Amino acid sequence: MDVRERIRAWLAANLTGEFAALAGTGGPGREHENVELRIRWERLLGAAGWIGLGWPVEHGGGADVATQVAFFEEYARAGGPGRLSHIGENLLAPTLIAYGTPEQCRRFLPPIARAEEFWCQGYSEPDAGSDLAGVRTAAIRDGDVWRVSGQKVWTSLAHLADWCFVLARTDPSARRREGLSYLLVPMDQPGIEVRPIVQLTGTSEFNEVFFDGAATAVDNVVGAPGDGWRVATGTLAFERGIATLGQQVGFARELDEVVAAARASGALDDPVHAERIVDAWVGLQMLRHHALRTLGGPPSGVDASVSKLLWANWHQRLGELAMEVRGPAATLVDAAPYELSDAQRLFLFTRADTIYGGSNEIQRNIVAGHLLGRRAR
Ligand SMILES: Cc1cc2nc3c(=O)[nH]c(=O)nc-3n(C[C@H](O)[C@H](O)[C@H](O)COP(=O)(O)OP(=O)(O)OC[C@H]3O[C@@H](n4cnc5c(N)ncnc54)[C@H](O)[C@@H]3O)c2cc1C
Repeated sequence: MDVRERIRAWLAANLTGEFAALAGTGGPGREHENVELRIRWERLLGAAGWIGLGWPVEHGGGADVATQVAFFEEYARAGGPGRLSHIGENLLAPTLIAYGTPEQCRRFLPPIARAEEFWCQGYSEPDAGSDLAGVRTAAIRDGDVWRVSGQKVWTSLAHLADWCFVLARTDPSARRREGLSYLLVPMDQPGIEVRPIVQLTGTSEFNEVFFDGAATAVDNVVGAPGDGWRVATGTLAFERGIATLGQQVGFARELDEVVAAARASGALDDPVHAERIVDAWVGLQMLRHHALRTLGGPPSGVDASVSKLLWANWHQRLGELAMEVRGPAATLVDAAPYELSDAQRLFLFTRADTIYGGSNEIQRNIVAGHLLGRRAR
C-alpha cells in the first residue's frame, strides 16, 4: 500500500461514526459548525500523527513533501472538516522551529501536534493592517512577565484559542519596525477580552481582542526583544505552504458544484458562462502547478505573495460565478433569521479572500518591489 492509499484508508476508516457528520463542515463561513466534535476529530488526527507532518523528525514530523501533499489532498477529497489547528500547525510551529529556542519548541509544539492547544494570530489593529509596522499594542517588562495592553482586530478563531502570538511594541523609542517583539500570550486570563465580530455570512470567524495588562512570562518572546518584525514577516512566508494543495482540492469540489448548478439552470448552454467555467478550470490547474513548482524550497515572501494573489482572485471569481450561473433567484433568502445557501456563503465569504493574509494591493507592492529591486542591482 503506498502512502496515498494508506492515508485514504485511514480517512475512510475514521471519518465515520460520529465523525461522519463532519464531512464538508467547518470551512470558510462555516467555522461555527460542530466545534466540539471537530476538536475531538483534531485530537484523533493528532494521535494518529497527521498533525505536524512536515516538522523536523525531532519534533515528530519528518514526512517528505510527497506524503504531505498526499495528506492534504486526500483530506480535502474525503471532505475532512475545516481545521481548527491550522494557525498553530502551519503558522506558529514553523516560526518556532525557525526562530524559537529549543525550550520553546519543546513546550509549544507537542500540544499543537496533539490538538490540545489552539492558536490565533494577533497582528492587525484598527490602525495597523497593511501598515503592520504601525502596531501600537504595547508590552512592558514587569519583573518576570511582559504586560500587554492594546487592541487587536480581525483575530480569526480568538474565541477558541488557548494562545495568541502577538506583535507588540516593546520599545516605544525605537523606529517603527525596530521596536517590535513577537510574544506568545495565554488567552485564558483576566487581562484579555474577546468580542466576536459578525461577518457578512452572519457568522463570527474573527474577533476584536482587548489586552489590559495581560501577562506572559518573559521567556515567551520569539527571537530577541526588538526582533519581532523579522519573526512576524517570517510567519507570513509560512502562511501558504503545502496546505494550499488541500485548499485546491476543496476549490475543485466547489467548481464541480458550480458546473452542476450551471447544468441544472441551463447556464452551461450559454457561451459566456461556459467560457468563464473553462477559464476557472484552467485557472485551477495554474494554481496547482504554481504550488507544486514552489514547494520543497525555502519559503519565499515573493512566492507566497504570488500564490496569495493567484488563489484569492481565482476563488473570489468563483464565488461570483457560483451566483451568476444560478440566475437572479440565487440572491434571495428567506425572511430573517435566514440560512444562507452554499453559493451565497461562498460568494459572501470570498469577498474577504483578497483582504486577509495581506490585501491584493499589498501583495502586488511586495512582488513589484522585489522585481524592481532585482532590476536595480
Ligand atoms: C476573514 C479575515 C480574517 C483575518 N484574520 C486575521 C487574523 O487572524 N489575524 C490578524 O492579525 N489579522 C487578520 N485579518 C486582518 C487582515 O490581515 C487585514 O484586514 C489586512 O491586512 C488589511 O488591513 P486593514 O483591514 O487594516 O485594511 P487597510 O490596511 O486599512 O487597507 C484598506 C485598503 O487600502 C489598501 N492599501 C493600504 N495600504 C496600501 C498601500 N501601501 N498601497 C496600496 N494599497 C494600500 C489596502 O489594500 C486595502 O484595499 C483578517 C482579515 C479578514 C478579512
